[in-house]
Amino acid sequence: MSRGRRQARRRKLRDLVIQRVERALDFAFSIYSTHPEYAVKAVKQAQRLAQKARVRLPTRLRRRFCRKCGVPFVGSSTFSVRVRQNRSTHVVLRCKSCGFTRRFYIRQAI
Ligand SMILES: [Zn+2]
Repeated sequence: MSRGRRQARRRKLRDLVIQRVERALDFAFSIYSTHPEYAVKAVKQAQRLAQKARVRLPTRLRRRFCRKCGVPFVGSSTFSVRVRQNRSTHVVLRCKSCGFTRRFYIRQAI
């Protein structure tokens, strides 16, 4: 297969995976309040799918759940956000169910 066709196939697969992950996340968000354990399962399944297909999820999707325990970030009861200023400005996102923290550094405007 030519390189171009292989890349086209890969792009298609990537789109498909992202679509499915997006749907799984929407589903997880909608049932989290009533069935949190199923929501976590759906997120983990979506994560595995992306991993298996070796697809890196877009930022907007990656920030919608805890990558450690799979809890979808629904409302302020599932995570906390802080802005910290030591050394450089960054946002700290903390999962309230497992305590996992992620930092997002903000590039300083010049
Ligand atoms: Zn977590």
